[in-house]
Amino acid sequence: MPAAPNYRSELVGVFGHPVAENPTIVMMEAAFKAAGLDYRYLTIEVLPKDLAAGIAGIRAMGFRGLNLTIPHKVEVMKHLDEISPNAELIGAVNTVYREGDRLIGENTDGKGFLGSLRSQGGLDPAGRSFVVLGAGGAARAVSVELALAGATRIVIVNRDEGRGRALAERVAGIARTALEFSPWKAGYRLPEGTDALVNATSVGLYPDPGRPDIDYGRIGPGMLVCDVIPNPPRSAFLREAEARGARTLDGLGMLVNQGAIGFALWTGHEAPAAAMREALAREFA
Ligand code: NDP
Repeated sequence: MPAAPNYRSELVGVFGHPVAENPTIVMMEAAFKAAGLDYRYLTIEVLPKDLAAGIAGIRAMGFRGLNLTIPHKVEVMKHLDEISPNAELIGAVNTVYREGDRLIGENTDGKGFLGSLRSQGGLDPAGRSFVVLGAGGAARAVSVELALAGATRIVIVNRDEGRGRALAERVAGIARTALEFSPWKAGYRLPEGTDALVNATSVGLYPDPGRPDIDYGRIGPGMLVCDVIPNPPRSAFLREAEARGARTLDGLGMLVNQGAIGFALWTGHEAPAAAMREALAREFA
C-alpha cells in the first residue's frame, strides 16, 4: 500500500518588530532545502504587547523553534520553561527550541561568534586579550562567551558609560577574565598587547558606509580584527584592518554559525553551513 500523504510541514520562524528586513529566512530555507527537510521558516511581525499571545500561539501550533529579534530578546525569557545557563548570563534569548512540550531559551549569538573565531579566525580565545567595541546585545553575547572560553583580558569600549560599565561588571562577575571599561573618545587607541579587536557596535551596517572612530594606526599584522556586522561582509572596518596587514573575520560567519546552532537544536541534524553562507552572501550581494 502506498504511504499516506503528509501535507504538514514542521514550523519555525522569527518574531520581531520591525521584522520585514530580517534576512534569516534566506539562510534557513536554504538549509532546509539542502538537508532535504520539510520545514518552513516564517518571518512574523509581533508587537511587544502581543508577545505572550505569540508564544502561546507557537505552543498551540507545535512550532519546533523560534528566533527572537528586537525588541523581544529579553522580554521572551519570562514566557519560556527553561533558560540555558549562557543565555541567563547574557540576559537575552535569541533562539527557542522544544524538548517535548517544554520551550527552552538559548542565546546562539556569542556561540556563533566563538565558532567563527575558532574555525575561520583560527584563534582560541583562552589566554588572549580582547578589545570589544560596543555594549549592546551583540557585545554582551560576545563578551560573556569570550570570558567563559578563558580570555585573559577584555576591554569594553562604549560611548554610553552606564551601559559600558554595566557590561564590564556583568562579565567580571562570571569569570576570572580581567574586565575593564574604557569610555569611547574619538580616535580611541587600542591598548598594547591586544590580540583581537571586535566591532560589536551597529556602525557600518548596510546602508551605513561608516566605520568605528578609533585610531587604526595600532592595528597591524599579528592582530585578528572581527566585525559582527554581517552586511556588507567586507565592511569598511575590515577593509581598513586588512590594509594594515591584520587578519580579519566577518560577521557573516557569526550569523551563519549562530543559525547553524539553531538549525541543529530544531532538527537534530548537522546544519549545511556552506549552503547557508552561500545563500546569505548572494542575498547581501
Ligand atoms: P544594540 O542597539 O543593543 O547596541 C548597539 C551598540 O552600538 C551600542 O553599544 C551603541 O553604543 C553602539 N553604537 C551605535 N552607534 C555608534 C556610533 N556611531 N559610535 C559608537 N558606538 C555606536 O544593538 P545589538 O548589539 O543588538 O546589535 C549591534 C550590531 O550587531 C547590529 O548591527 C547587528 O546587525 C549585529 N549583530 C550581528 C549578529 C551576527 O550574527 N553577525 C548577531 C547579533 C547582532 P551606545 O551604548 O553608546 O549607544
